[in-house]
Amino acid sequence: MRTFAYSRADSVDHAAHRTMPDTAFVAGGTTLLDLIKLDVLKPENVVDINALPLKRVERLDDGRLKIGALVTNTDLAHHPEVKSHYPVLSEALLAGASTQLRNMATTAGNVMQRTRCPYYRDPAAKCNRREPGSGCDAMDGINRMHAVLGGSDACIAVHPSDMCVGIAAIGATLTLQGPDGEREVDFADFHRLPGDTPHIEHDLADGELITAITLDAPLKNAGSHYLKLRDRASYEFALASCAAQLMLDGDTIREARLALGGVATKPWRCSDAEAALVGQTADKTSFERAADIALKDAQAREHNGYKIPLARQAIVRALRNAARGDKPASETQESQA
Ligand SMILES: Cc1cc2nc3c(=O)[nH]c(=O)nc-3n(C[C@H](O)[C@H](O)[C@H](O)COP(=O)(O)OP(=O)(O)OC[C@H]3O[C@@H](n4cnc5c(N)ncnc54)[C@H](O)[C@@H]3O)c2cc1C
Repeated sequence: MRTFAYSRADSVDHAAHRTMPDTAFVAGGTTLLDLIKLDVLKPENVVDINALPLKRVERLDDGRLKIGALVTNTDLAHHPEVKSHYPVLSEALLAGASTQLRNMATTAGNVMQRTRCPYYRDPAAKCNRREPGSGCDAMDGINRMHAVLGGSDACIAVHPSDMCVGIAAIGATLTLQGPDGEREVDFADFHRLPGDTPHIEHDLADGELITAITLDAPLKNAGSHYLKLRDRASYEFALASCAAQLMLDGDTIREARLALGGVATKPWRCSDAEAALVGQTADKTSFERAADIALKDAQAREHNGYKIPLARQAIVRALRNAARGDKPASETQESQA
């Protein structure tokens, strides 16, 4: 058992002004503690941030919604503002993990969760993300769960979050607090593509703490849907998922938001497909065209080619359900343990 020093932060300033090297913050602990036990992450210092006052959800004057970093996935999914104005986020949250995990998991912890790539989680395997320059056993290994979008020769690991796919389709800003003060980062720019440096996963400097995530103002009168396709109906990560929002004027699409999960190395906003939908009739033809545009750069390895038609179906069905404004019960159930 590897040892580490444990401490509790009693203020955001205290947490952000630590100068100790190799420090990890712990919130719900549902990712961090597993990875410490697996010997994948090896922090010398673990700072518990659960006492920080970051558990509020508040509507801002400009219509945006500010979510404290420590709001749990359960509380966020059931928050009245989220259920009324961002149902796609509520659905995405409830499709993730299990009730017990969602009760512990926090908003910032979910953004920061690591890939579930089995080679990343196995210190005996080669993984450029875990150990830069060591190689990638997924490339020619069992890559059935791996990414078809956003990969590189160094890494094809999927970003596993459901919540982040909902947020990507809404748009948001992260507030970060560090030793040099506060700054804001567009959610779309926060997670990095792997490129040659897959170990650099996000735009967070050493010692910086996420304090809040602020959602863009909701699309007015939009229909939405989060569809998650997976090997079993609960307690399982996505093979492909899609968050869709459509604002219609009669049958004509006025605005569209589309993001994918389970198929990409980061939460994947489909901006070109969104642009192609605007002004079109909300029908199968335009949905299929949008799906083809969203997946035009998809690249498969030996075992994950099935994800391309699967994601195509997920996009078409999520858009269809968003346009209809109704949700088949089987697709909206909470994921249970
Ligand atoms: C069995 C299992 C099944 C799961 N299934 C799903 C699923 O289907 N869908 C899904 O989306 N997720 C799933 N998850 C992942 C789960 O959602 C995440 O583990 C959880 O959201 C992480 O939140 P946490 O608060 O527990 O983070 P922690 O484990 O406390 O932290 C995770 C990381 O975030 C960092 N961190 C935490 N808070 C901050 C902060 N404020 N600022 C900066 N860094 C911070 C930590 O240092 C650490 O690196 C599953 C997890 C498990 C164990």
